[in-house]
Amino acid sequence: MLDEARRLAPRFAARAAAADRDGAFPVDDFTDLKNGGFFGLMVPARLGGAGAGFSEYAEVAYELARGNGATALVFNMHASVTGALSGVTDELAEALGLPPEALAARDDALKEAAAGSWYAVAMSERGAGSRLSQLATTYERHGDGYRIRGSKTFCSGAGHADAYLIAARNADDPSQVSQFLVPAGAGLTVEPTWDALGMRATASHDLHVDVTVPAQALLGGVEGLALAVAQLAPHWMVASYAAVYVGVARAAVDAAVEHVQSRGLGRLPAVRARIGRADAAVAAARLVVGEAARRVDASPGEAETNRWVWRAKLLAGTTAAEVAASMLEAAGTSAMRRGHPLERLYRDARAGSLQPATSDVCADWLGVDALGGDPDTDGTAPRW
Ligand SMILES: Cc1cc2nc3c(=O)[nH]c(=O)nc-3n(C[C@H](O)[C@H](O)[C@H](O)COP(=O)(O)OP(=O)(O)OC[C@H]3O[C@@H](n4cnc5c(N)ncnc54)[C@H](O)[C@@H]3O)c2cc1C
Repeated sequence: MLDEARRLAPRFAARAAAADRDGAFPVDDFTDLKNGGFFGLMVPARLGGAGAGFSEYAEVAYELARGNGATALVFNMHASVTGALSGVTDELAEALGLPPEALAARDDALKEAAAGSWYAVAMSERGAGSRLSQLATTYERHGDGYRIRGSKTFCSGAGHADAYLIAARNADDPSQVSQFLVPAGAGLTVEPTWDALGMRATASHDLHVDVTVPAQALLGGVEGLALAVAQLAPHWMVASYAAVYVGVARAAVDAAVEHVQSRGLGRLPAVRARIGRADAAVAAARLVVGEAARRVDASPGEAETNRWVWRAKLLAGTTAAEVAASMLEAAGTSAMRRGHPLERLYRDARAGSLQPATSDVCADWLGVDALGGDPDTDGTAPRW
């Protein structure tokens, strides 16, 4: 699948300018992903998927992002849902006391992904951002199931996904934050609000929710798991985008090299040095993402693993923004024209540090940790 991602990247790159210009969802890229079996990347082989681990996901995401960061970012949301579901092994489920019906629902969702369905994430809200403990969307018991009501924002792939992971708080006990997998259709209304600086093709629109779902839609089958999962296994919430933004950074270096060579600017020492520094910075960020991913596969949730996860997100976000800015400067004003790859990559790369955990939040987490505090609880505001 890594080879297939490398094969698809130039196809994505060829379509990226038009999708960015129109702020249009990359429908053809997603058809390619579906045909290539990518929706089953994180699904265990016993359920029909490729059974990839986090390291393999990170490599695939990096390659896809070299083609189109927006496509890779939306795919990341699906990989996060399916990766987190696959991470609930039968042993873990038993330790957590998850009911058998929840495991059957997990398997059904994963099988459908392997068969070509894909999932979006509707967590963020206007005002609350991605802080799970502050969400205004609520759920309550309704017959044998739940009624979920609220409004989400920045939902990448809104209007195109087959189902949405929706985070909500219990209306009677707001300390309980739960996640539901809700099929597209009645009760979910997309409001096309995404007209942004960068990652324009992600269709990260608002999603209004007033829907009743059966009990099996509650992920894990037990209420109140969302905050614990975010703290214990932060890799999908914090670091899965990291590989995407390192891929965007590498695409910026590649685009700058092409531009500089075609214009005969390579003899200028200042231009060469910018490319040299950028190359080294991207390689370093990629190594850190790789190390975090390796540790996630080997010892998920361990304190040292989580440190690398937060480091990876911080370095990927800042490296992408700095490298893309420097490559634009190396290439010159002609690369600032609309439609030039560097103009788009500069804007796409800008989003990396803003995605949760933002670079500032990552730096604070790492700083609190380095100073001997508890980085999950000692911040000035709730992390989640
Ligand atoms: C391209 C793109 C795609 C996205 N796709 C999705 C998606 O599919 N699904 C989804 O749910 N969301 C998605 N998001 C939304 C992303 O999760 C939001 O950026 C997030 O919810 C934060 O919202 P916010 O930036 O408006 O506000 P905030 O998180 O409130 O951030 C505002 C400022 O406050 C600071 N801050 C926030 N928390 C803390 C803290 N604990 N301590 C100190 N400082 C803090 C931040 O660093 C920042 O400077 C996407 C975002 C982007 C850019």
